[in-house]
Amino acid sequence: MKLDASNLWQEVLEDLSENISKPNYDTWLKDTIGISFQGSTLIIGTRSEFVNEWLERRLKPLILKLVAKRADEPLDIEFKTVSIQKEDKNEKVFALQPQYEKTTEHNLKEEKQQQGWSANQPSLRKNYIFNNFIVGPSNRLAFAASQSASNSPGKEFNPLFLYGGAGLGKTHLLHAIGHSCIEQGLNVVYLSAEQFTNRLIASIQKRNQRNFRNIYRKTDVLLIDDIQFIAGKEQTQEEFFHTFNELYEAGKQIVISSDKSPNKIKQLEERLQSRFEWGMIADLQVPNIETRMAILKEKIKIHQVKIESAVLYKIADICTNNVRELEGSLTRLLAASRLTGEDINVALVEDTLRHLQTSESLYSPPSVDLIVEVVCDYYKLQNTDLLSNNREKQYAYPRQMAMYLLREVANISLVEIGRSLGNRDHSTVHHGWRKMDKGQIIDEEIKRDVSNLKELIDRKRKIA
Ligand code: ADP
Ligand code: MG
Repeated sequence: MKLDASNLWQEVLEDLSENISKPNYDTWLKDTIGISFQGSTLIIGTRSEFVNEWLERRLKPLILKLVAKRADEPLDIEFKTVSIQKEDKNEKVFALQPQYEKTTEHNLKEEKQQQGWSANQPSLRKNYIFNNFIVGPSNRLAFAASQSASNSPGKEFNPLFLYGGAGLGKTHLLHAIGHSCIEQGLNVVYLSAEQFTNRLIASIQKRNQRNFRNIYRKTDVLLIDDIQFIAGKEQTQEEFFHTFNELYEAGKQIVISSDKSPNKIKQLEERLQSRFEWGMIADLQVPNIETRMAILKEKIKIHQVKIESAVLYKIADICTNNVRELEGSLTRLLAASRLTGEDINVALVEDTLRHLQTSESLYSPPSVDLIVEVVCDYYKLQNTDLLSNNREKQYAYPRQMAMYLLREVANISLVEIGRSLGNRDHSTVHHGWRKMDKGQIIDEEIKRDVSNLKELIDRKRKIA
């Protein structure tokens, strides 16, 4: 008997429905159809490229097995995208179509769904909301700006650019903005710059760039995480530039996160850098001990456990680098305590977090004293000269250099730097920092000094 592609696939679908969950079946298989044979290959029609990819990756082995069983011979399979047209009798008619014609609204919505968005919902972590975010001096500005951006999207702070080191809460804030905007009924797209790049490449390969553009240029709110990833990637920058312009001109909110400020991202086109600076730039710093304590208290509330304050203090004291490390340490402790049946006490903390204590000098920022000492050595000054009010260049220049390094290398706040360097005003510190920051571009001496000093600090820190 001659095999009929449509019937064969119907039989295989029945087998598949018994083998995989209903939601998966409905999402990926329900609307597929057996189209034809090409040699010994069964051509299966699906509704989108994303379905093809998913089936190819996740179900191909199972499908091959079931097809072989039903057909009584091993056959190859191939997934092809087809479009669906409704006929008078409401019957589905499938027709093979080349990729680049696939740009109907219907398909657009579909593709969004296949990428993990339901019509209006990107995949955001449920607990990354404003209410769960502990605010302190290190993140106050970033938090307030994020809230403002979500209260009046596209108006006040557009674009909003958040930057800071790993594990300091950038993604948390981006998701929180997303949740808040979704609640207002806005269309939100959240993705990392890496995903943006990968999807762009895929759309170019599959020649459905128009669909790609429709998704990213037609949203109300675009949240792009870790933009530094597009550094050096010309075509992605070009595409992102146009995405940015279209959204910006339409008054849509754009929020971008990065590990560095726009002017520090190397190999970022100037026109993008300047656009990132059009709106609001807010940085996230390492939280101080009080904020770390508050974060721990919030997290144990979520875990519904009680830990004494002195013990929490010990954890906060050891975990100085970022919030992710702090959370990870708490999780480790909870696991250790469950495993041993021991309460979480200072001894357990010391034992469990020993790895952080011993390597701390390598990973945590250098201390004020260390930086001041290196600067004094380098310029052959006394500590008292640096802290004095003497404004002669031989003292003022090293002092400003110290300000710059304390902020850049040790992430210390302007106010604190002022206090450490002879009780100076934070605007004086800002002036000093800025002079060195900008100076490096035009002044070879500054550039060389910064580079030498950073190296010296790094070396000294490793010995310390
Ligand atoms: P980043 O994107 O900057 O690397 P994340 O947003 O992923 O950092 O944050 C790392 C973890 O720390 C997340 O679990 C996040 O919820 C948590 N976190 C960061 N900052 C805070 C904060 N201020 N309050 C509560 N949790 C925070
Ligand atoms: Mg992140």
